[in-house]
Amino acid sequence: MAIREFECKQCGKCCMGYGGMLTATHDDVKRWREERRTDIIKTAKMMWKNGNLTHAELWFDPETGKELFNCPWLRRDRDKASCSIWDTRPQVCRHYFCRKHVKK
Ligand code: SF4
Ligand code: SF4
Repeated sequence: MAIREFECKQCGKCCMGYGGMLTATHDDVKRWREERRTDIIKTAKMMWKNGNLTHAELWFDPETGKELFNCPWLRRDRDKASCSIWDTRPQVCRHYFCRKHVKK
């Protein structure tokens, strides 16, 4: 089966409205710790089992702890959206497959 070509239009829709439904893996959290990205860690809720970190829920307001509807790392420049933590974005974002603008 041929993989259909996809072109990102930078609409940002994949980064909006999924707050509370996304998770970061244990490896994502480990990487953020190694990179000293406490700013990112503060927007994630760590989940533990038997004293071990299993994963983290995304995204939360670092000040209030309230769940965020949109990703706090989404940036807009005029009509283009971009990810401000692209190089260290969580796995869930790396594996996202967009069907919004698949070329016919
Ligand atoms: S991946 Fe899809 S939804 Fe996300 S910004 Fe690109 S075109 Fe928009
Ligand atoms: S981390 Fe980046 S790619 Fe992932 S939801 Fe946020 S802005 Fe989008």
